[in-house]
Amino acid sequence: RAKSAGGNRYELADPEADARVITRHGLTTALPAALERGEFFIEYQPLVHLGDGGVRGAEALVRWLHPQHGVLGPDRFIPLAEHTGLIVPLGRWVLEQSVRQARTWRERYGTGGAPAPLRINVNLSPCQLTHPGLVRDTVEILERAGVEPDALCLEVTESALIGADDDLLKPLRRLAEMGVDIALDDFGTGYSNLANLRRLPVSILKLDRSFTQSMQRFPADPVDLKIVEGIVALAHSLDLTVTVEGVETGAQAEQLRVLGCDTAQGWYYARPGPPERLHDLALVDATA
Ligand code: C2E
Ligand code: MG
Ligand code: MG
Ligand code: MG
Repeated sequence: RAKSAGGNRYELADPEADARVITRHGLTTALPAALERGEFFIEYQPLVHLGDGGVRGAEALVRWLHPQHGVLGPDRFIPLAEHTGLIVPLGRWVLEQSVRQARTWRERYGTGGAPAPLRINVNLSPCQLTHPGLVRDTVEILERAGVEPDALCLEVTESALIGADDDLLKPLRRLAEMGVDIALDDFGTGYSNLANLRRLPVSILKLDRSFTQSMQRFPADPVDLKIVEGIVALAHSLDLTVTVEGVETGAQAEQLRVLGCDTAQGWYYARPGPPERLHDLALVDATA
């Protein structure tokens, strides 16, 4: 490769930069075979109700068990999969696995022992949003697993929906009408027009981790408190549920509960893990 790029002369590149390029390129080309060979797996992180502490559901987070590099997080390969389009079949696989897992949980616990049924959150990348098969695939996956649409929440980042036109929103509207929840992920980082929220078929705001981080101290920065308070008030006035991500301490959880946030997710409750771990958590919750 160095030869074709530099004519007849070989040059020693910065070995670290070179390794990064090779890894990126290598990872990208290895993605399709990895999907076929079953090298991806999903970890689940519980979503906890801030009022009663009960598990309400879980977010599915994909990982890649690479034969040479070990476990890779989604930040390492999702952008590559988005670039090549592999995110569409990969995303479909994640959705199918997650919905089947939800089916297992629901068979085991019925409605999860909590007022709301045990639900599954799945991340959607912008490429999946524009893919024409999204609604059809989702309906098919739910039907095949025998899971009701209201057990599923699709997470879309705020930035993916900034300036979204009606064509982009149409499939999300269809899904929302069927009963699938749509969550706005990483909310508060995208500088979106708050009035725009009314136009979007979303029912959940996931407040970005940066807000949670500023709640590290108790009491937190008064300006951040005001901002979160304002977002929660606006969300609730629009009938939206507020979830917070990245809760690492009890002080953060308490502060966010006082500010009116509804559900939370983070290491304080549990790290993402295998599905059996949620069995244990839900079981504790159901018998508490
Ligand atoms: P996200 O959807 O915002 O997911 C939350 C991220 O925060 C996850 O990182 C999770 O492991 C991490 N996290 C959870 N609790 C805590 C905490 O208390 N402290 C800290 N520091 N981090 C916490 P992860 O698993 O590395 O995923 C990163 C991103 O990759 C996700 O952000 C999501 O945007 C994307 N992603 C993950 N799975 C999928 C997928 O199946 N499809 C698509 N399109 N994107 C995915
Ligand atoms: Mg998410
Ligand atoms: Mg998020
Ligand atoms: Mg995030």
